[in-house]
Amino acid sequence: MNTGFSRNLIAGCVLGAFALTTGPVETDKGASIVSGAAHAAGGVVDDPTGTVPDRYVYYPGTEALSEGEVRVIACGTGMPDSRRGQASACFLFDFGNGEKLFFDLGTGAMRNVNSLMIPSEYLTKVFISHLHTDHWGDLASLWAGGWTAGRPVPLEVWGPSGREPDMGTAYAIDGFLRAYNWDYQTRAYKITPVPGGITVNEFDYRGENAVIYEENGVTIRSWPAIHSLDGPVSFSLEWNDLKFVFSSDTYPNTWWNEYARDADLAIHECFVAVPTMVAKMGFTPESALLVGTQIHTAPEAFGKVMTEIEPRMAVAYHFFKDFDTTAEVYSRIRTTYDGPLSLAEDFMVWNITEDEIRVRMAVTEEATWSPPLTGEAQPPGGDADREAFSENSGVALEDMTYSDFISGGTWDGVEEALRGVYKEAEEALGQEFPYPGDE
Ligand SMILES: [Zn+2]
Ligand SMILES: [Zn+2]
Repeated sequence: MNTGFSRNLIAGCVLGAFALTTGPVETDKGASIVSGAAHAAGGVVDDPTGTVPDRYVYYPGTEALSEGEVRVIACGTGMPDSRRGQASACFLFDFGNGEKLFFDLGTGAMRNVNSLMIPSEYLTKVFISHLHTDHWGDLASLWAGGWTAGRPVPLEVWGPSGREPDMGTAYAIDGFLRAYNWDYQTRAYKITPVPGGITVNEFDYRGENAVIYEENGVTIRSWPAIHSLDGPVSFSLEWNDLKFVFSSDTYPNTWWNEYARDADLAIHECFVAVPTMVAKMGFTPESALLVGTQIHTAPEAFGKVMTEIEPRMAVAYHFFKDFDTTAEVYSRIRTTYDGPLSLAEDFMVWNITEDEIRVRMAVTEEATWSPPLTGEAQPPGGDADREAFSENSGVALEDMTYSDFISGGTWDGVEEALRGVYKEAEEALGQEFPYPGDE
């Protein structure tokens, strides 16, 4: 996914960033490193069977947050065409008090989210900055996958209005549920209909630092972003004297300069450099200049934006981060900004407290399963559930099963083999499981 070159360069960026704020520290190994995060890297093993207590990587599911700590995980940092090594925009916020929420859920992001193995019942809140698919395209995966994995409640979505009703988030979610009606109905009366709902909180995109969420000590505000058409917004999130800001996609603007000031972590889009768009994406210079500098924030402009608001840590995302693009984006940012900087890639993790910002990469497993349910697993709904669903939804009972035409194609040549599976379950569990149709 990444060459050693790009990884090393980033380590350099982060170290340089810390050095600016904390100053270099001499260690007993004689190397000049920095205090805080980087200093902890590696831990100490002083006997041959010892373990390393403190590594420079994050292993999901192994670290409890302290009470005043926030962990931010980049689950998508790339472009609209998500790729195997980089999903589209998604940042997961994980708070010391247990609150968890997403800023954007772009295409491909759920593959990354699922590798963190967080029980689905805790992943229910999604803040959508704008309705480009690279910022909400994987809602389908969270919606259906989390349902299958045992989320007991509906998803809750926050997103901006548009200039007209059909350009807003409520319209989009209504359309989403219509588009996935077949999926909804096939799960609703086989499992339970409740988690298939989505609660929409649409807010005015013109709000200027307006509060859109206040729960569990977390306050989220929005202000307009300037991107493509009216509608997109940027967010701030405040908790425990910490402040996080997320630009979404935007041309640099005065709202951001005013409301994002002094953030602890400032995540802002930073687009692919214009010459790269021409060379690698086949853009004409005219369209590369338009998209790369006017619709999005160019690296040089990203630097200006961060110099203006002076965050504790600036985070650049929304470019394909490769061995041959990282240095280019970095050097262009450095023409206008010399403060703390992370060039985001998928699975970059920031642990933030009042005293420290620790930047690491998560080490994840590709072959993950859904985490086990935290509550009791339920058997499939019976006739009573089906009847209740029919009554509430208006779907006729006879439409909640196969037509005679389709069931007429059933091959009974497998029945004997499948009866063996039922018998095996009965013997293993000491319980009767009648074969379908035998009751
Ligand atoms: Zn966009
Ligand atoms: Zn985007």
